[in-house]
Amino acid sequence: DPRIHGIRTKIRVVPNFPQPGIMFQDITTLLLDPKAFKDTIDLFVERFKGKNISVVAGIEARGFIFGPPIALAIGAKFVPLRKPRKLPGEVISEKYTLEYGSDCLEMHVGAVKPHERALVVDDLIATGGTLCAAMNLLGSGAVEREAIVRANRVPLTRANVTKTNHHPFQPLPHTKK
Ligand code: 5GP
Repeated sequence: DPRIHGIRTKIRVVPNFPQPGIMFQDITTLLLDPKAFKDTIDLFVERFKGKNISVVAGIEARGFIFGPPIALAIGAKFVPLRKPRKLPGEVISEKYTLEYGSDCLEMHVGAVKPHERALVVDDLIATGGTLCAAMNLLGSGAVEREAIVRANRVPLTRANVTKTNHHPFQPLPHTKK
């Protein structure tokens, strides 16, 4: 698709940011170009519209830039996956390891329901650790919600949640498990 080359040329590569040895891919320069920004959103919309996706989950922070326009265009709700202590309601958390140290993502309990199909959006995959944490969060969030309903709203703890091997989201045909 010729649009991909145009998009690529708009992403600025910043050597040694935020630390020596990192070639940082800066998407703020893509956002300055309305055509490249729209092409980016359109590519996702064309690929995922009509695929029965009811949830677009955006990873803080740059998933909050690309996720909402995709959600609106495909007719899905938007669920922010946030860094710790940002969400006011009851949350479910997923810790994950980074190259150096660890981080955590949180989601409101009940934001997704079992068997909903979700698209996770972020600006960049490096090791894939953040994306895996997001997928785990969505999966366990939906399963825990089911557990709450089944337990007639017994207060939620990890101990009273029975996890099953059944993943509540159906992978798209072309995605790896
Ligand atoms: P991963 O967990 O896949 O190793 O790292 C991906 C996460 O780190 C994403 O949330 C992404 O926003 C951020 N990230 C890592 N490297 C870069 C980079 O070079 N550019 C941008 N924009 N984000 C990065």
